[in-house]
Amino acid sequence: MRRIFSYLALFLLLLSLSLPQAASAATWRVGLQAGHWLSNELPDELSSLRNSTGAAAAGIREAQVNLDIAQRAAVYLRNVGVEVDVLPATVPPAYRADAFVSIHADGNANTRLRGFKVATQWREWEAGVALVNALRQDYGKASGLAWDGGRITSGMRGYYAFSSGCFRHSIANDTPGAILEMGYLTNPSDRTLMTKEADRLARGVADGVLRFLRSKPANGWPAPPALPNFRATVIVASANLRSGPGINYPVVRRVQRGRVLMAESIEGEWVKLTSFRGNQIRWAHRDNLKLERINDEQPQDS
Ligand SMILES: [Zn+2]
Repeated sequence: MRRIFSYLALFLLLLSLSLPQAASAATWRVGLQAGHWLSNELPDELSSLRNSTGAAAAGIREAQVNLDIAQRAAVYLRNVGVEVDVLPATVPPAYRADAFVSIHADGNANTRLRGFKVATQWREWEAGVALVNALRQDYGKASGLAWDGGRITSGMRGYYAFSSGCFRHSIANDTPGAILEMGYLTNPSDRTLMTKEADRLARGVADGVLRFLRSKPANGWPAPPALPNFRATVIVASANLRSGPGINYPVVRRVQRGRVLMAESIEGEWVKLTSFRGNQIRWAHRDNLKLERINDEQPQDS
């Protein structure tokens, strides 16, 4: 009897070894963020965004549209074996996935504005650009909407959930990220599309994500640009940012208490601040900042 069991165990072992590896999709993990969803629960480091409830028009709130489409897209992706996290406004610290897409709908006082746009972070990386292009292609096709890329804002490119250098509750440095503005909630035609044709749009999001996942080069994506060494939080009412390390250099900008910046190095009393936006370098006096090392944090899986 025992021998039968051991043959059976051996048979099952051989069977499991001989089965083809489940499609690589089985190991893919994707985060779909429903923009603004549960923004009131954002952590202290993002407390200024707790009131950011997004666009609203004709009694429809952006967060509900975003969540609906994120959940529908998740169904499509799960059906082909992708593991999907539908995430609220709060991203788990250093969230790691094969792709992260933040789903939003736009709003504008000009109700005639229509169209969609997709952007990635300032710290541009091949994988993020490929994710943007894949979403642009498939979401554009599914929605039939025109590309509105000329209105990509600095807020989109500096979106907090990609700003791994500034916030703990953001995607990991090596997670490709994109933000999709699906259309204008303030435009009646776009709004109808997002509410009555949600499934079609969700399919476009899922197709774009799959196109991106399948486009990964055999040796993986090139490494992302490194993050700066420190996160610097302004601890005085207003801090001067100067063009060089000393009070004789002109003040280029002032930043308020609580503002988070990225810092490359500390040189004496001066901190060298860096921004991926246009590669600007600014300096601030060390006494105005609280400094924390960025790369000490262990990324978390979920
Ligand atoms: Zn939004």
